[in-house]
Amino acid sequence: MSVLQTSMLAILKENRGHFTAGQILTLLRKTFPTASLATVYRNLDIFTREGKIRRVALADSPKYYEMNLAPHGHAVCLHCGQVVDLMAPEELSGLIAGSLQGKLLSTDLTVHYICKRCLKKMGGEQH
Ligand SMILES: [Zn+2]
Ligand SMILES: [Zn+2]
Repeated sequence: MSVLQTSMLAILKENRGHFTAGQILTLLRKTFPTASLATVYRNLDIFTREGKIRRVALADSPKYYEMNLAPHGHAVCLHCGQVVDLMAPEELSGLIAGSLQGKLLSTDLTVHYICKRCLKKMGGEQH
C-alpha cells in the first residue's frame, strides 16, 4: 500500500465519520498538497472493492465513505447535512419483516432529522 493510501485510510479511521470524496481530499492535502480528486476517487473505489470501507448512498446527498462496516442505518440532518450512524437495524428489521408478507432481504435505512446543534442554533430546543 502506498503512503498516500495509508493516509487516506487513517483519515477515515481517525475521524470516525462519513466523508465525501471532496472532504477527504481537503484533509489529504494537508499531507499531500498535490493530491487530486481523481486520485481520491480511484483509491476510494479500490478500498470499497477490497471491503476496507463502505460507500453510503443517501438520497439527495453526495456519496459518503466510512469505515463502519457493521450493518446500520443513517440519520441525516436536513439543516447542516451531518450524517450519523443509526444503530438499531436488527430490532427494526424484525418489525419490518413482521409487517411484510414475504422474506425481507435487506434494509437500507435513512432517516432525516434536525440535529441537536441545529435545533439549538434555531432556538427551538425543548427542555
Ligand atoms: Zn444539523
Ligand atoms: Zn455509517
